[in-house]
Amino acid sequence: METKYCICIKKMASGDHEVHAEGCVWCQEDDQLKTVGEFETPEEALESAKKIFPDANGCHCCMPEQYHLP
Ligand SMILES: [Zn+2]
Repeated sequence: METKYCICIKKMASGDHEVHAEGCVWCQEDDQLKTVGEFETPEEALESAKKIFPDANGCHCCMPEQYHLP
């Protein structure tokens, strides 16, 4: 089953753009989110997100395996 992923347009305090799975409690402001697409794995979502923002980072909440500290 595929999950829809979004990337936050606004940079985080750490200077990166966070990627979220749809429905994540950490992304509620639609106007600051850009759809990345639908993917079967968070890995694929992050790869595609990096084509939008090279410094894309996974959300620590909804895709912790793709979350990397600066
Ligand atoms: Zn999230």
